[in-house]
Parts: sequence; C-alpha cells; structure tokens
Amino acid sequence: MNLILFGAPGSGKGTQAARLQEEMGLKHISTGDMLRQSVKEGTALGQRAKSYMDSGALVPDDLIIDLIAEVLTPMPPQAGFLLDGFPRTVPQARALDLLLMRLGRQIDAVISLEVPDAELVKRLTSRRMCPRCGAIYNLITQPPRLPDRCDQCGSALEQRADDRQETVENRLRVYREQTAPVMQYYEERGLLHRMDGSQLPQDVFRSLKSRLSAL
Ligand code: AMP
Repeated sequence: MNLILFGAPGSGKGTQAARLQEEMGLKHISTGDMLRQSVKEGTALGQRAKSYMDSGALVPDDLIIDLIAEVLTPMPPQAGFLLDGFPRTVPQARALDLLLMRLGRQIDAVISLEVPDAELVKRLTSRRMCPRCGAIYNLITQPPRLPDRCDQCGSALEQRADDRQETVENRLRVYREQTAPVMQYYEERGLLHRMDGSQLPQDVFRSLKSRLSAL
C-alpha cells in the first residue's frame, strides 16, 4: 500500500506513521525529518532550507520535489510507502502524480488527521524530541520517565525551534493557506479519508487500522 498521511503540524502524523511503519512494514518518508537531518549535516539542501524552516515557512517546491524523487525512484516496486509531510502544496501534489506515473505506481489512500487549532497549539508547544534517536514526547500527554531525558537512549530532549509559540502560529497559518487546498485535490480524486485525530494516539491508531483494512 502507498499512503499519504495528511494533517496540520501537531496532528499526530509522525506518531501514527511510526506505528504504521512498524505494523505494516511501510517505508516512512518524512520530508520534515529529512530536511532536519540535512540541516544538522550542513548539506547544501540543509543550508538552503534552514531559514524557511526556522520561520515556519514552506521550503520551495523544487527542492522538496527533487528530494522526494531521490527517495521514491530507487524503491523496489513491491515496497509500500507512507508519505508524512508531503505533499504540502498543490504543485507538489501534481509533481508527485507525475513522478508516480513515471514509476508505474499510485497512491491508494490519503488519511487526513483532523484536530482543532487550540489543541494543535497545545500539542506543538509541549512537544519534545530526542535529537539522537528521534523519539517524540509530549510534556502533557506522553512525558518521559525522567524529566527532559529520552526513555530510549537517555539523551537530553530538545524543543524543535519551530515548535515555539510564535512559529507555531505561523505554521498553522501556512497550513490553512497553502496546504489545506491539497485536501481538495485528493477529495476530487476520491482518495481522501478524514479521521478524528484529537483522540489518544492508541485510539487514533485503532481507527486508522480498521479504516485501512476496509480499503
Ligand atoms: P514537519 O516536520 O513536517 O512539520 O516539517 C518541518 C518544516 O520542514 C516545515 O515547517 C517546512 O519548513 C519544511 N517542510 C517539510 N516538508 C515540506 C514540504 N513538503 N514542503 C515544503 N516545506 C516542507
């Protein structure tokens, strides 16, 4: 299966994607994670992307489309994938269609995780990440066992620069203006499945699995 996980920042895409990867063996492709890695390594892509990311703006389409093409093109055709954080604009969605057509593949479903704005702000500003192993925590709903330490590898947890209050508001505005229209694109193609993302992660995952098994 080839899936797109869609939703505003903080809607739980990363958390659900990690579980789907584990249970369904889908390759989790997160453009946000790839970009953060490039920034960390100081690659040319990372240097170009950093200022956009720090302000909560979208990185230019051509950079992201090239990045996705580099990942999808060498994948064996029988391996399923799960896109998280891509496409985020209608031109990206169109470019993805063209790329998949060239590769002889297609998207089977687009899952939209829907969460009210007030809840998104609360989730994002209390989110913490492990810079070493990538584990995600939430100080309110999923705190680490020891304050500010990763349960899995013991590293000091960090707040993403773009999870600070001012940037979060900008990211939600960008989502509404540039990314929400992508939903309509997939709705018109009969691929969109809207789901309530405001429940606990394990409950969202249960609903997600039953929706996918019905496909
Ligand atoms: P995320 O972790 O998915 O919230 O992504 C973090 C940041 O990376 C976003 O705020 C954007 O600056 C950038 N980014 C990730 N994916 C994309 C994309 N598909 N198009 C443009 N920018 C992106």
